[in-house]
Amino acid sequence: MAAQAAVPAQADRSPTYWRQAYQVSDYLIESVSLRFELDPVCTRVSATLTVYRHPAAAQTGALPPLVLQGEALTLERVAINNVELAATDYTLTETSLTLPVPAAHFTVQTTVTLAPAQNTSLMGLYVSNHNFFTQCEAEGFRRITWFLDRPDIMARYQVRLEANQADYPVLLANGNLVATALLPNGRHAAEWQDPFPKPSYLFALVAGQLSCVESTIRTQSGAEKQLQIWVEARDLDKTEHAMQSLIRAIHWDEQRFGRELDLDRFMIVAVSDFNMGAMENKGLNIFNTKYVLANPAIATDVDFANIESVVGHEYFHNWSGNRVTCRDWFQLSLKEGLTVFRDQEFSMDMASDFGAQPLARAVRRIEDVRALRSTQFVEDAGPMAHPIRPDSYQEISNFYTATVYEKGAEVIRMLQTLLGPVGFRRGMDTYFARHDGQAVTCDDFVQALADANPESQVDFTQFKHWYSQAGTPRVTVEQHFDAATGTIRLDLTQRCPPVGIERQQMAGSTDKQPYLIPLKVAFFSTEGQPLETACFQAAAAEVIQHEHLLQFTQAKQSFEFKGVPAKHLAVIPSLGRDFSAPISLQYPYSQQALITLLAHDTDPFNRWEAGQQLFQQEILRLYTWAQEQDEAALSRHAAGVEVNAALLAVVAQLAQDQTLAPAFREISLTLPSFNVLTETLVVIDPARLHWARETLRAAIAGAVAAHWETLIQQTSPHLPPVVAYAPNAEQAGYRAWRNLCLQYWVLAESELVSSPARVLAEQQYWAATNMTDRLAALSVLTQESTASEILTDFAAQWQHEPLVMDKWFSLQAMAAPSATRSPVAILQAVEHLLQHSAYSPRNPNKIYALLLRYFANNPAGFHWQSVTGETPSYDFWVAQVSAIDAFNPQVAARLARTLEQWQRYVAPLAHAMQRALQQLQQQPALSKDVREVVEKALQ
Ligand code: ZN
Repeated sequence: MAAQAAVPAQADRSPTYWRQAYQVSDYLIESVSLRFELDPVCTRVSATLTVYRHPAAAQTGALPPLVLQGEALTLERVAINNVELAATDYTLTETSLTLPVPAAHFTVQTTVTLAPAQNTSLMGLYVSNHNFFTQCEAEGFRRITWFLDRPDIMARYQVRLEANQADYPVLLANGNLVATALLPNGRHAAEWQDPFPKPSYLFALVAGQLSCVESTIRTQSGAEKQLQIWVEARDLDKTEHAMQSLIRAIHWDEQRFGRELDLDRFMIVAVSDFNMGAMENKGLNIFNTKYVLANPAIATDVDFANIESVVGHEYFHNWSGNRVTCRDWFQLSLKEGLTVFRDQEFSMDMASDFGAQPLARAVRRIEDVRALRSTQFVEDAGPMAHPIRPDSYQEISNFYTATVYEKGAEVIRMLQTLLGPVGFRRGMDTYFARHDGQAVTCDDFVQALADANPESQVDFTQFKHWYSQAGTPRVTVEQHFDAATGTIRLDLTQRCPPVGIERQQMAGSTDKQPYLIPLKVAFFSTEGQPLETACFQAAAAEVIQHEHLLQFTQAKQSFEFKGVPAKHLAVIPSLGRDFSAPISLQYPYSQQALITLLAHDTDPFNRWEAGQQLFQQEILRLYTWAQEQDEAALSRHAAGVEVNAALLAVVAQLAQDQTLAPAFREISLTLPSFNVLTETLVVIDPARLHWARETLRAAIAGAVAAHWETLIQQTSPHLPPVVAYAPNAEQAGYRAWRNLCLQYWVLAESELVSSPARVLAEQQYWAATNMTDRLAALSVLTQESTASEILTDFAAQWQHEPLVMDKWFSLQAMAAPSATRSPVAILQAVEHLLQHSAYSPRNPNKIYALLLRYFANNPAGFHWQSVTGETPSYDFWVAQVSAIDAFNPQVAARLARTLEQWQRYVAPLAHAMQRALQQLQQQPALSKDVREVVEKALQ
C-alpha cells in the first residue's frame, strides 16, 4: 500500500470547543501495544489497539465508524482485526482517520512514521541533545500514533522500544521493565508494561545517553521502592537536591493525605528543551532541567525551593491527576488546582517544620499570594480572563494558566478553610476512594467533599460559582462602630462584573451570582491590642473569640460583632486574614491604622499586607503627582515631591526589628511589584509608575542609610563561612535579607563616586561560594548601570552551564531604565543578546529567559515610544513572536500574551500595542495557539 502523508492545514479560523458539548466516546480502548523503531530522521511506530463499544453508548442500531486523531503522521499501514485495509476502506484527513467497525469488540493495527529530529514544537516525540523525549499533555499523543486522544480513554499500555544501542543505551517508558533484548546490527530493545490504565496524555518514553542516581526507600506499607533521576553524565553532581525533595514528597503525601506510591519504580528524567516546567507521566516524570539540576555553585535559594515544589507537584499528581484523572480538558483545574494546592502545602510544611515555625509558613504563603496577584489578578483583568473551569477554548494549551493553576489552588484552599483540615481530609479520602481509576469532573470532586461532610454549613452549590465564573471579586467593606454599646457592624458588598471571555459568552447579560466567600476577620484596638468579640450572624453557635470565619454569601451583607470594652473609641479591622479568599479587598484604612496593623496584627500575613498597603498608597500618590508632570521633571530625583515621613520612619523601625525573622523582614521591605500596583489603576503609564516605585525605593534606601551596613553585618554569624551552606528556608531567609539590604545600601550611596556599598557588593561577587550571593551581587551592581566587566566575567565563567546563562540573559532583559541606561539601549542589548554564542534560538528556557523576561518583566524598558512616535520595541515583539510561532506555537503563544493588557495602557502606547497585535494577526500561517490569543486580545 502506498504511503500517505497528511497535508498541513491552511491558516484558517479555528473551531471553538465547548464544555457543555461533552459526549462520551463511542468506543473505549482496553489495551495498547506500541512498538517504536527509534530513529531521529524517521521513527516507525506500530500500534495495536483493542477497541470496544462504550457500554453507555446506544446498544442498538449500526455501529458508528471509529474516528481516530492524528497529527503530522505518515500512515504506512492500517488493519482491522489484522486484515489490512485498502485506501478505499477508510477516510484519512490531516487530523483524522475514520475506520469501518466490524463488531463491538475488535483490534486496530496502524503503522506510521514520523520525524522526531524535525519536531521543533516539543509536543509528541522529539529529539533534544541527541536523545529522544515525549510530551503528550494535552494533545501530543496524536503526534505519535492514531488514537482516541482524550483523557477519558484509559487504557493499559505495553511498549517495546528498539534503537541503536551505542547511540541510545538507555530505553525508558512508563511502568515496569519486563524484558530486554539484543538485536542484530547493533540494535537493542526494551519492553515496558504499565500496570495502571492511563489516559494517553500520561504516556512517555525516553531514549538516549543518560546516567542515573538511585535511591531505595520503604513506604508506609513496608514496600521497597526504587527511585531514579536520569540526567546527562555531566549533570550527575546536580541531582542530590531533587532526590531529597522526591523522598520528602513521598513521605509527606503519606503523612498528610495517606497516599502511597503505587509503583515499584519511580523515575525522573531531565531534559533541556521543554515547553513547561515538568510533566507527571505515570512513573516517568519528565522535567525541564531548570526544575531538577541544582548545587550551590549553580543554583540560587529560589531555584532550590522551586525544585522542591515542582518535584513535589509532579509526584503528587500521581494521585491527583493520574489515579484520578480529568474527564475532559475543561476539568483541567481538577488536577492542576488540587495539585498546586498540595505542592504549596508541602512547601509550607517543609519551610516551617510542619507549622512549628508559623512565620516561616507565612513567608511561603505570602510568596504564593504575591505570585497570584502579579499573574492571576492581571489575567483576570484582561481579555483572556476565564473561570478556573473554562466553558470554551480554541487551543487547550493556552489554558494552562495562572487561573487554572494558582486560582484553582486557592479555590481548593477555601474548601479546606470552610470544612476545616479534618473535614477536608475526610473529603479527599472519599474523593480518592470513590473515583480511583476514573476520569472525572470538578463537580465530582466537590460532591465527594460534600458527601463526606453532611453536617457542614457550606452551601456547595453556591460555592461552585468559583468554578463557573471568572474575575477577581471586589469586596468593599464599611465599618460602623458604636462605642456606647461596644458593637461593630461590617457592611460588605461584593461585585464581579463579566470579564474576559465571559463578555463574549454572556452577550452583555450581567447575571453572575454572588460568591460564597470565606472571610477571616479580627479586630484590634487603636493601640493594637487584639479584641475578643462575639459574632451574631455566624452560622455556628456564637462564641467569643478573636478571629471569626465569616461566610459572606450575598451581594450585600452585614455582620455584627459585640463585646468591645467600653473604653475603646475606635477599632481597626483585620480583613481577609491569611488571604482567606482570592478577592480584592477595599477598605478605607488610614495610614495610622495600617501602621498599627503592621506592628501588631496577630496574623503574619495581614501584618505584611498592612505594609504593602502603606507602600501602595504612597506609590499611587506619587504616581498621581507624576501624571501631571512632563518627563523632564521626572528625571530629576524626586523633584518637587516629598515621600511621606511617617512611612519612612515605620520602615526604618521594621528593618531593625530583631524580633522578626529575616525572611519576613525581606518580604516586608520589598515593594509591591509593578503588576500588583496596576491592579487599582485606571490607566497604566509604565514610565511614571516605574518612576513612582523607584522614588519610594530610593527614599527608603536613604531613610535607613545609616543602618544598612550594620544590618548586613548582623547576618554574618548565620551564614557561610561561619556555618555550612544549606538552601533551607531559614538560611535562605538570612541571605535574602542580607542581599536586599545590600541592594538598598548601594542605592543609598548611588551618588557617591566610590561607595563602600559598591565595594562590598564587588567583594561579594568575587568571593561568593554560592550562586545566590554571586547573582545577587551582580544584580545589585547592574541595577543602575551596566557594570560590563563583571557581566563579561560572569559569562566567561558560566558559558558552559545553560541554566546559569539563563540568569545572565534574564538579568539584562529585565534591566530597568536609569539615568545611564535608556530604553533604546535596553532594546539594543536584547537584540544583541539574541546573537550571543550561549543563546540558542529554539530553546524555550532561553526564549523565556531573554524575550519573555523583557516583554513581561521589564515594563518601563519595554513599553516606550521614541520622540518621533515610533515603537521599535513593539516591532521587535511582532518579529520575534511570529518567527517563534513558525517552529513552536506554544512558546509563541505565551509570548503573545504579553500585549493582551493593551487596552489598560495610556493612549499612544495602547494604540501602538493594538497595531502590533493586528500586524501579528495578519501574519500568514499563524498557529491556532497564537491566533486565539491575538483574536481574544483584539475583540
Ligand atoms: Zn500540574
